[in-house]
Amino acid sequence: MSIMVPSKTPALITPGRQALDSALHQLGQAAEHLGLDDGLRTMLATPRRSLTVSVPVRREDGRLDVVQGFRVQHNVSRGPAKGGLRFHPSTDLHEVTALAMWMTWKCALAGIPYGGAKGGVAVDPAGLTTRELERVTRRYVSEILPLIGPEKDIPAPDVGTDEQTMAWIMDTYSVSAGYSVPGVVTGKPITLGGSLGRAGATSRGVQIAALSALGRSPEGVTVAVQGFGKVGALAAQYLADAGCKVVAVSDLTGAVYCAGGLDVSRLRTWAAETGGVRGYRHADALSHGDLFELDVDVLIPAALEGAITEANAPRIRARLIVEGANGPTTPEADEILAANGTVVVPDILANAGGVIVSYLEWVQNMQAYSWSSGEVEAKLHDLIENAFSEVKSLAAARGLTLRQAAHVIGVGRVAEAHQMRGLYP
Ligand code: GLU
Repeated sequence: MSIMVPSKTPALITPGRQALDSALHQLGQAAEHLGLDDGLRTMLATPRRSLTVSVPVRREDGRLDVVQGFRVQHNVSRGPAKGGLRFHPSTDLHEVTALAMWMTWKCALAGIPYGGAKGGVAVDPAGLTTRELERVTRRYVSEILPLIGPEKDIPAPDVGTDEQTMAWIMDTYSVSAGYSVPGVVTGKPITLGGSLGRAGATSRGVQIAALSALGRSPEGVTVAVQGFGKVGALAAQYLADAGCKVVAVSDLTGAVYCAGGLDVSRLRTWAAETGGVRGYRHADALSHGDLFELDVDVLIPAALEGAITEANAPRIRARLIVEGANGPTTPEADEILAANGTVVVPDILANAGGVIVSYLEWVQNMQAYSWSSGEVEAKLHDLIENAFSEVKSLAAARGLTLRQAAHVIGVGRVAEAHQMRGLYP
């Protein structure tokens, strides 16, 4: 089946195409394991809806720019499409499709009643003023308006977007509806119906998954974190709070190392004040590449796709990798890591805390009710820990890696939903 075969022409392999190839490879392996027929495999390999839009944006100096925007709904068999919105200059339709597919398996694995979606706008948010960013957001939303809604497709923050972006989306949608519709997005500010615990949910999930995978006391466990942004910085904080020793972190500005353990909250303050970790005085500088090769117990890639490839995988010494990012490890790297005995807690499990609390936020919105942070946190713990133990048991029973087992469960649930619903007409 040609759709399952990764493209081979190097000149055409963009990072987005690489991500989609990885996602299709993982789907292919799970489909093989589940014995799915060709028709169903093609269904699952193909997004239900993909929309590309041109977003005109008026710059402060009066110029008109046009940027590309995307929204892909990969699957809606188990419920409304769900997934983040990414603002990044190199996002493209391939990348957004891969990310939407991973959302489908992630929601199915977590047992929450959603399909998978993702959105992207090819802009660098750091290069826009707040007003320009608001105009891009509102215009993009107006272009994809027919696709989204609390029962149809619910965006959330991802790389380059935040609760302010969600507030603008909620407002744009609500103005068009004629009344407030908080359930159209998650990851909103609390004052607009956001959930307690959503801001740190992905990082909390990474912490829970890491501690479950360690299976021993976190005291003194050494950790390196690639990406000190929304997910990585708080994951580092939560792991440090649990007793781990976070020895290295990196972001776009640089990487820092301290053998005795970084003071993560001090480093977060430094990064917030100066725009990044570079120049932090209580640690040594490190190269981006060296961070991956540190002799640590746990490595957390928490930035973009394709961070761990066949080029650096052979030199990784961490015993455990917990994927805070989506798609950070290529299939070639996966094989090398498995052969070296490195355990990888895959993205669709390790970073599911974000969409789990998004689901809890949406349920609260639909009921016009709100839960305490303790209730939210307890539900998050239950859902991640259940998913983790299901993945671990299946991996042990069938001799699979955790990623393979996670995909077998996620893909299997979606396939079953397809089969039970049947095909219309
Ligand atoms: N962008 C996050 C993810 O990749 C969260 C998605 C959501 O909450 O809908 O999982």
